[in-house]
Amino acid sequence: MQKSDYKNMWVYIEHDGVTAAPVGLELCCELRKLCDRTGDKLFAVIINPLPEAEEKKIIDCGIDGIIAVRGTGYDFLNTDAYANAFTVLSRKYNPSAIFVGGTIFGRDFAPRFAVQLDTGCTSDAMELDWDPETGDIQFIEPAVGGKIMAVITVPELRPQVGTIRPGTFKYAPPGPRPVVERLEEEINFDPAAIRVRPLNFIPDDADPEMDIANADCVVCVGNGLKDSEHLERYRTLARLLGGKIGCTRPLYDRGILPYKLQIGQSGVMVKTKLYFSFGVSGAVNHTAGVDADVFVAVDKNPDAQIFNYCDYGIVGDMDEVCDELIAQLRAREKD
Ligand SMILES: Cc1cc2nc3c(=O)[nH]c(=O)nc-3n(C[C@H](O)[C@H](O)[C@H](O)COP(=O)(O)OP(=O)(O)OC[C@H]3O[C@@H](n4cnc5c(N)ncnc54)[C@H](O)[C@@H]3O)c2cc1C
Repeated sequence: MQKSDYKNMWVYIEHDGVTAAPVGLELCCELRKLCDRTGDKLFAVIINPLPEAEEKKIIDCGIDGIIAVRGTGYDFLNTDAYANAFTVLSRKYNPSAIFVGGTIFGRDFAPRFAVQLDTGCTSDAMELDWDPETGDIQFIEPAVGGKIMAVITVPELRPQVGTIRPGTFKYAPPGPRPVVERLEEEINFDPAAIRVRPLNFIPDDADPEMDIANADCVVCVGNGLKDSEHLERYRTLARLLGGKIGCTRPLYDRGILPYKLQIGQSGVMVKTKLYFSFGVSGAVNHTAGVDADVFVAVDKNPDAQIFNYCDYGIVGDMDEVCDELIAQLRAREKD
């Protein structure tokens, strides 16, 4: 295998026929910058039609082209047909790298086609870089419990496949390129060969309290919390600040809060104006998921790592500080 035979980067655009999932757009924006350095072209791969307005949003992210796939087997998201489509396309065009949003579906089908192509798949990178010496993409992510940032490469195989979690990169469209190519591909997969069948569809209960990714304010409760009886005050604080509650992984592990509220590398990535953390030590697996204009940390340990990340640090008992903040906010409400 000659690495030089493989060119250009692809982003898979996951969609429901109406709207493109934001992660595809985020990836196009980020990879535009990388492709400007590597000299690769950036293609969006869209399986099944998308409305023109949605395609325009993708084009605004600075792509050089669209690979539009039609055919049988794509009536619902399924690993067999979609992995096959990428295997067929990749063998035809030899892309250097393929990026897939780390959604439930993306995390399932990307490794599958990577295996079919005998190549490597990296999951959950937080940063992407490129080594001009080797031509390899560097997938950078926390490892060893967050103690180091690992640089993962696929040094001998192509394409380099990576899944990236929603919210990892910013959606900041650089605008359309002067020329956008369009490649039409027909790839048919026998629907009878799809090994799963949709039996029913039950939409997620769209509880707005569980949607914290873009909340204006997040009050994050960490493992310093004694037990669930102590939680209510943090909900009250979040309400008073017009925000939502989130947590670190141990709180989910302890069964105190649901997974959807876990913030960090293996949870939700949040972009917020104001982030309060209470009893959070500051492991990089957690802080990697926080993009806050203002970060306030409360911890009883003055040496806690979290104080290296925050804009304002308060050393003290988390419940006492929370109660005081609630009292101050309520006093203001009365003024
Ligand atoms: C692959 C991988 C992925 C991971 N993904 C995530 C992720 O997505 N999100 C995540 O959160 N973690 C993740 N983790 C776990 C992560 O490494 C940490 O273990 C976790 O973030 C620690 O949570 P914490 O800070 O709440 O708990 P701890 O590290 O136990 O810290 C608790 C803090 O509370 C303080 N404290 C205790 N009592 C009080 C009190 N009364 N008042 C004030 N402060 C008090 C302590 O001083 C301490 O600093 C991941 C780990 C791995 C290996």
